[in-house]
Amino acid sequence: MKSFLGHPVFSIISEVAESMQLRTFVIGGFVRDITLNRNSKDIDIVVLGNGIDLALNVAKKIGPNAKVNVFKNFGTAMIRYNEWEVEFVGARKESYRSDSRKPIVEDGTIEDDYSRRDFTINAMAIGLNNDNFGELFDPFDGLGDIDRAIIKTPLDPEITFSDDPLRMMRAIRFAAQLNFKIDPICFKAIKKNAERIKIVSGERIVEELNKIILSPIPSDGFILLDESGLLPIIFPQFSNLKGIEIVEGKGHKDNFYHTLEVLDRISFHTNNLWLRWAALLHDIAKPITKKYLPNEGWTFHGHEFVGSKMVKSIFRDLKLPLNEKMKYVEKLVLLHLRPIVLSEEIVTDSAIRRLLSDAQEDIDDLMTLCEADVTSKNPEKVKKYLSRFQLVREKLKEIEAKDKIRNWQPPVSGEEIMEAFNLTPCKNVGIIKEAIREAILEGEIQNNFDDAYQFMIDFGKTLGMEIVNNKKGN
Ligand code: ATP
Ligand code: MG
Repeated sequence: MKSFLGHPVFSIISEVAESMQLRTFVIGGFVRDITLNRNSKDIDIVVLGNGIDLALNVAKKIGPNAKVNVFKNFGTAMIRYNEWEVEFVGARKESYRSDSRKPIVEDGTIEDDYSRRDFTINAMAIGLNNDNFGELFDPFDGLGDIDRAIIKTPLDPEITFSDDPLRMMRAIRFAAQLNFKIDPICFKAIKKNAERIKIVSGERIVEELNKIILSPIPSDGFILLDESGLLPIIFPQFSNLKGIEIVEGKGHKDNFYHTLEVLDRISFHTNNLWLRWAALLHDIAKPITKKYLPNEGWTFHGHEFVGSKMVKSIFRDLKLPLNEKMKYVEKLVLLHLRPIVLSEEIVTDSAIRRLLSDAQEDIDDLMTLCEADVTSKNPEKVKKYLSRFQLVREKLKEIEAKDKIRNWQPPVSGEEIMEAFNLTPCKNVGIIKEAIREAILEGEIQNNFDDAYQFMIDFGKTLGMEIVNNKKGN
């Protein structure tokens, strides 16, 4: 293990710990990650004694590069040093009450500290004192569980999950992130305690959910969330996608599994959390827009529109940010059928211009979403769709090069319209502006100031308006 501790921060901690005569260990996620060859810049240090004092002395020794924050109430301190984050805490013993996941904490031995950890793979430590520097302490055979690719609690899983139900989300998150299996007895305990997730704050839950979404194969995590019974509690709108209804012998596809397939497919192409969220929510309104029409079969008319309207309340429920990331997801959900419709008909320049004008800088992400949405089992169909999308992509490039619609504002502004006709802000300004925009998108005029200005003059006339200040040619 010594070679993993090559970074100077470890020898500094070791030296200071030794001079203070404190037994000190690296513990938890960092140790797990180095044994898995995963990169980790997030280090947890546990001390038999006062973690804050050790941190302050370590920071002093590192010098002005180290920024230290002390959290007195928690008895912890954090040092930020270049890209490293080192957290110091005294070894502790925890006991729980049934109505809260926040434990009663008291000083403890290193054994107590191992036992308060959630999983065997997270309960390994490495010594930092002179007599044990680099030595691995693995009280619950975490290494064996890493070998077997198993997530397992060190103590009775019923108690572990009931004490802090967030651990159920963490178990599933680690299973998805690391491609591990959850030990069957543990999984049974998760099923049994699923309801207790309700005592955990939404912010903590969504942090784990986001990590599941960012795993290599996110469906692995969602299947476990579903099987455990957690999904309908933490994310009922998504759970509602499950199931197939049959009328007159005709069923529709199961939108839960379809969506998971889209999510997995998009995850091969992007690590953008919000694009993955768009994949997760693209069909979210299918259950509520679903109708069986005798002539058409199953329809989901308007699901893209209704779905995009649902995004805000889902983000609010899940404590996701109500900012431009949410707007981005709303936009992609709203537009997710547009390239498909385009690829089914003759692709006109004006349709492409409209798509570019609506999607703006997110057009590439929208195309990635649409391509991931092709989950047909019929290889001929898949080939046909993907080659049509290729055509749409080429057209997009061509039109973009010609017309520069992306990040586009019509070349004559509202102020210029008001100045030309000597208007104060009124309805006509909007009408003229929209008419200019339409004329450009339809290809009736070129996307430049002179053409747009002339169009404005002519269009004004049809509204009985005369130009007062002519700016053309300026
Ligand atoms: P990651 O950093 O990838 O999110 P991690 O396991 O390092 O994963 P941290 O939140 O950094 O998670 O926690 C560090 C360590 O603290 C864990 O490895 C584990 O030993 C312990 N720990 C964290 N959360 C809990 C919990 N809810 N219950 C018990 N132990 C926990
Ligand atoms: Mg960590």
